[in-house]
Amino acid sequence: MSKIKDVSFILKKYTYKRPFCIAYSFVAETENIEIEVVTENGVIGYGESAPSFRINGETPEMILALESKVREMILGKEIRHYREIFSITDKLTSSPSLKAGVQFAIIDALCREYGIGVWEFFGGVKTEIETDRTVSVRPIEERINEALEIYRDGFRVIKIKVGENLNEDLEAVYKIYENTKGCRYIVDANENYTPKEAVYFAKKLYSGGIDISVFEQPVNRYNLEGLRYVRFDSPFPVCADESVKTKYDALRLIKEEAVDMFNIKLMKSGILDAIAIVELAKTANIRLMIGCVSESSIGINQSVQFACGMGCFDFCDLDSHLMLEENDFRGNFRQIGSKMIVK
Ligand code: MN
Repeated sequence: MSKIKDVSFILKKYTYKRPFCIAYSFVAETENIEIEVVTENGVIGYGESAPSFRINGETPEMILALESKVREMILGKEIRHYREIFSITDKLTSSPSLKAGVQFAIIDALCREYGIGVWEFFGGVKTEIETDRTVSVRPIEERINEALEIYRDGFRVIKIKVGENLNEDLEAVYKIYENTKGCRYIVDANENYTPKEAVYFAKKLYSGGIDISVFEQPVNRYNLEGLRYVRFDSPFPVCADESVKTKYDALRLIKEEAVDMFNIKLMKSGILDAIAIVELAKTANIRLMIGCVSESSIGINQSVQFACGMGCFDFCDLDSHLMLEENDFRGNFRQIGSKMIVK
């Protein structure tokens, strides 16, 4: 048997190589909390919580303050009976990134005890995924240069942040498209267009001959009618991100026929809800992408293992660790250009 003997929270600070800017919000540094779960056999499982105030209303201080609560929840619990532990830790509803980090650390410890890769635990469908890289909201010239750099580094899926200035966004997407041929594009407005602006934006790009693979969260997260309007009135697949955190959100979006795709992030959902959202999506013919918040290599590893194991993601937006200054790479995967390989 392998019961949990100890759990510890370790605060880590990271600086972004360049400030990461989305519409009306930017980050220059981040504080993540590493979670270590130690079993009575001395095996350590590693997880990371990347709290997001914008998405989840979380702060690092809130996560750290929950350490004794988490100890109370999981100490002495048998990791082989992880579903029982998950039903307890799923109660961390106001700190989903902590839920994700703790749950992953438990699975990581379990897999180390079993001698299997976490990607195999999740189903072992793929050994390799391809990530995009993201272009920030900046002056147009800088957006084009950033996209060119990403293109020259061999990335062929480019995510473009928009939502602050419709005309500049159109110009930036046009110019990036012209200069990076043969790529697929994800455009993410992070909730900042009105439904009418979003439809105008999409139709303008379409009539200019530009194909967008994913139009992510064009309008406010709670505006499901708005999402539905954009979905059926624009030529590109519309994807929920901020709108889909729990499995209940996913069910609601399906019932409302609001979107074509879900962007799953472990930091929004934890492990069990992420799995539930995958299954709901498959049932409803919703396509899937996986995204990240501000995870370092040890935290992005969680999503790489999940994405390879589940093998169900059409797009992987797992580039946060590539934006951070980090002394040591600590993922359980190899990063070769855009490829992330678990075996
Ligand atoms: Mn997004």
